[in-house]
Amino acid sequence: MTVKTDVPRLLGFSRRMSEASLRGSWYGIDLGAIRHNYRELRSHLPSRVKVYACLKRNGYGCGAASVAAALASEGVHAFAVASLLDAIAIRNEGIKRPILLYPGALPDIAPAVEALDLTVTVSSMEELNLWRGAMRKIHAFIKVDLGFFRAGATPLEAARLTAFATACPNVNVEGIYAHMSELPLAAPSDADDQFLRMRAVLAQLENQGIRPPIAMMSSTEGVIEHPHMDLDAVDPGALLVGLPETNVQRRQMRLRPALKTIGSHLVAVKRLDASLGRVPAGLGFHDGMVLGVIGIGWGDGFPRKVPRGATALVRGQRVPILPPAHLEHMRVDLTDVPGARFGDPVILLGNEGDHEITLNEIASLWGTDAVGLYGSLRDHMPRIYT
Ligand SMILES: *Cc1c(COP(=O)(O)O)cnc(C)c1O
Repeated sequence: MTVKTDVPRLLGFSRRMSEASLRGSWYGIDLGAIRHNYRELRSHLPSRVKVYACLKRNGYGCGAASVAAALASEGVHAFAVASLLDAIAIRNEGIKRPILLYPGALPDIAPAVEALDLTVTVSSMEELNLWRGAMRKIHAFIKVDLGFFRAGATPLEAARLTAFATACPNVNVEGIYAHMSELPLAAPSDADDQFLRMRAVLAQLENQGIRPPIAMMSSTEGVIEHPHMDLDAVDPGALLVGLPETNVQRRQMRLRPALKTIGSHLVAVKRLDASLGRVPAGLGFHDGMVLGVIGIGWGDGFPRKVPRGATALVRGQRVPILPPAHLEHMRVDLTDVPGARFGDPVILLGNEGDHEITLNEIASLWGTDAVGLYGSLRDHMPRIYT
């Protein structure tokens, strides 16, 4: 969550300056990119297809509240999150659109679900009955597992569960959905098989005269690769923060990454001298080196072990990050940047002068991929929105 404090205002700081200064480090998030990605998605979707913007994991680290506000102003239909905290953050922005809770919530949060007017996910009779016992009126989506082997009723159970829930007077079945996704080593036909299973569940319900208002199964990969699987709604997440998640682009979307910058500052600068004793070997330290300390560490999402070849940008120059990483600090070698001063910005991701450290560069350095990098963003870090 973004830092909220009146201290900077009392001190006469601008919000932009204060948030980065308070913590020393920040994420630069481009809400314009998120709006652009949403419009790009919308331009490919038939107008009847609704978008449930998936903002789980605090909006993929970009801040669920601010991302939701940007998307609400673009006219998005609804949101989907896994954590009640993300739902609270969205409602705290004054956003009234539907919010679907993915599996993760237990019925003991029923009072919050009612107060915030959230829609819960139901994957079994047991879940349905527990929610029914905890709330007067339930808004629910039934979840189907189409072969991802995660939450959701089996296709066989899903039809029965949906029919039963539809007949319950205190249950409003708003929709039925699945997370169409692929396990490692999936065959190319798996997506089609999942689509057929979804259609079979819907057909079985239709035979009983039941059609939940919304059927949904495509997230980022599905919506880009399989346009015929749009159904009534789609719930992409990665796409909105600029990650296509697939190389097969049946729908050609020009997406822009929302995460622009991971920045910090030099919180100490000094030239090493003999009074420190012997320079430690094997860590990249050397005699006469100018050592910089940056105000970001593994507690801020940087890998616990400094990856070989990790660099940062200081005054437009690349400098090595030296191991080991600490909870809140790391070291850089500033010997080749004679102008470096206490307080200078340090860029771990983004542009500085003529240099750029790209998302893919740090993702691979950190041993992950772009979406894994977004997932490792920490909620305590201030976010500067542009
Ligand atoms: C994560 C998730 C999504 C969004 O997936 P992306 O690949 O980020 O688009 C959609 N639906 C469910 C149920 C999810 O868990």
